[in-house]
Amino acid sequence: EANSEANNDNVCGICGFGGDIVLCDRCPSSFHLSCLGLDRVPDGDWFCPTCCCKICYGPKCKQECADQTDNNILACVQCEQKFHSGCVKAIGGFGPTEMESNANKKTWFCSVVCGNMFLCLKKLLGKPITIADNITWTLLKNNASSDYDYDGGNFTSYDFSLNKRKLNAALGVLYESFNPSIDAFSGRELIKDVVFSRDSKHNRLNFRGFYNVILEKKGAVASVATIRIYGPKVAEIVFVATKEQYRKQGLCRLLMDELEKQLIRLGVGSFVLHSSEHAINTWTKSFGFNRMSGKEKCQFIDNTFLEFQNSIMCLKRLNRPIWPYIAR
Ligand SMILES: [Zn+2]
Ligand SMILES: [Zn+2]
Ligand SMILES: [Zn+2]
Ligand SMILES: [Zn+2]
Ligand SMILES: [Zn+2]
Repeated sequence: EANSEANNDNVCGICGFGGDIVLCDRCPSSFHLSCLGLDRVPDGDWFCPTCCCKICYGPKCKQECADQTDNNILACVQCEQKFHSGCVKAIGGFGPTEMESNANKKTWFCSVVCGNMFLCLKKLLGKPITIADNITWTLLKNNASSDYDYDGGNFTSYDFSLNKRKLNAALGVLYESFNPSIDAFSGRELIKDVVFSRDSKHNRLNFRGFYNVILEKKGAVASVATIRIYGPKVAEIVFVATKEQYRKQGLCRLLMDELEKQLIRLGVGSFVLHSSEHAINTWTKSFGFNRMSGKEKCQFIDNTFLEFQNSIMCLKRLNRPIWPYIAR
């Protein structure tokens, strides 16, 4: 790596550019004041939008909190939002013992909704769904990524080497459409890190939450999308591509339709998609996305979306089911 990950990032976690930046006191991320909507450097400890407690929004538990001494931070495995364990206890969240054992397993969830979503995703992993003649849709994730050791799902039928082969095929499909993108700070290649769900202390470079969706035609990987699901609030899609020989057959449509169906079933409220300049008309005219306004971007400031140059962010609201699917 070009730089040690112990140092703070030297580019803004929102726009990806350098300049005058404020440093988060909890993680190595840095930000432009203007990108955060702040007009001055905050006093005392300052935690970035990703790191601050989503109950009290402060660096430390508040006065009225039941247990002010407990400033331990819990991070939800599914939505990646962070919480003081003291604040969670104060609002009657998971009981301390239950919470501790979950925290030790590194699989704490902020809500039943997030926990259920995580289990539903695990149940979908590696199981092809037939959506048309000779065409299957499959959710994949690098099984070496950090939260894979979770034992709540049933992975006995999961074929590890097959999974790796399919992820490599997916990467090949993406490289046909996107140029490799080397991060100036870490020296890492972005697309590969996303496909293989690479972890990092830098929020901007942490791709632990990414899943891959592949469409296979007669067993060959034809279309690919990479996706990260931030709980019920939003799912982020980056790098959608179809292998050249399979283009103009409506495969991307099949992949996206099934993905939308699955997200609705999981109870996800909206879809954010990164588009290139040349694809924007297709996404807006044929797939129901709209270019994201500045106001809409602000609604998602707690979520670290992937930032890369020349990408246009689009939004699509989904109709939530009255009862989301429950994992069994
Ligand atoms: Zn910025
Ligand atoms: Zn931070
Ligand atoms: Zn708090
Ligand atoms: Zn959560
Ligand atoms: Zn508190």
